[in-house]
Amino acid sequence: MARFTDKVAIVTGSSNGIGRATAVLLASEGAKVTITGRDSERLEGTRQAILKAGVEESHLISVVADITSAHGQDLLISSTLEKFGKIDILINNAGANIPDANGKTRTEGGIDTFLKMFQLNLQSVVEMTQKVRPHLAKTRGEIVNVSSIAAGPAAQPQGPYYSSAKAALDQYSRSAAIDLISEGIRINVVQPGFVETGFSTVARGLNAEESASFYNSMGAQPHCIPAGFCAKPEHIASVIAFLADRKASEYIVGQTITADGGSTLVLGFHAHFAQKAPKN
Ligand code: NDP
Repeated sequence: MARFTDKVAIVTGSSNGIGRATAVLLASEGAKVTITGRDSERLEGTRQAILKAGVEESHLISVVADITSAHGQDLLISSTLEKFGKIDILINNAGANIPDANGKTRTEGGIDTFLKMFQLNLQSVVEMTQKVRPHLAKTRGEIVNVSSIAAGPAAQPQGPYYSSAKAALDQYSRSAAIDLISEGIRINVVQPGFVETGFSTVARGLNAEESASFYNSMGAQPHCIPAGFCAKPEHIASVIAFLADRKASEYIVGQTITADGGSTLVLGFHAHFAQKAPKN
């Protein structure tokens, strides 16, 4: 029996990137999955990827929705319950570093940008957690939140609002995890480092070619990524699946797992010494 057989999962932000890879993985390993995002064309791309992996069409629903709207959240939950009858797993993955009207993401961004950033990266997670809570209490279910190494402690001048929202998400997750574990609901967090997704097209305004070149050049610099490459979405999806699998990770509660190829552990001098190891 596959590890997610008989489980029902909602994966937010699954029309692209990490969410898509997670939905494909969970569905391939037996879960019934609700995929969602605002872009119907990209969402169809995820649906096709899941079907191509050999998953039955009846194990899948697509819901086009804005996760920041109450209507979108309610539709996501009601469609899942109507189709599958329960919810076992909620992956709160949708997120972005949203540029302001002038394409900037730094401290010059106005309060409207700040609010949008918190609404997507934090508030929608809080709202989804509240709404899904009674259903997860019935199934003794799991929540995995997708944060970022941007949450700190290193400064993130290129995205102060995004990184603050992710830092708040981490602390919310720890606190909610302890509050809800008494109901049998387990919450954990994954903090990815650099991952080749649509993230840089949104956050940095790069086209696909520029984005690939950005990720390749980051991966080639050991003081940025000691592992020597940027993650593919599948590298993060497997960590999310581990935390969503109660048999594999039951005793992990309210923790943050960093999956960043070592990025957060290096300072410039580490890379220098790694490249030029002193001879004995
Ligand atoms: P992508 O841009 O590839 O995917 C983001 C997903 O979020 C898309 O499916 C998008 O769907 C969805 N989304 C964004 N805004 C909304 C909204 N308002 N309503 C519904 N869905 C929305 O990026 P990633 O896969 O990289 O991002 C996934 C998560 O990983 C995010 O939380 C991000 O912050 C985090 N992360 C990413 C890193 C990276 O280097 N890639 C590093 C660290 C963290 P659509 O556009 O169809 O609405």
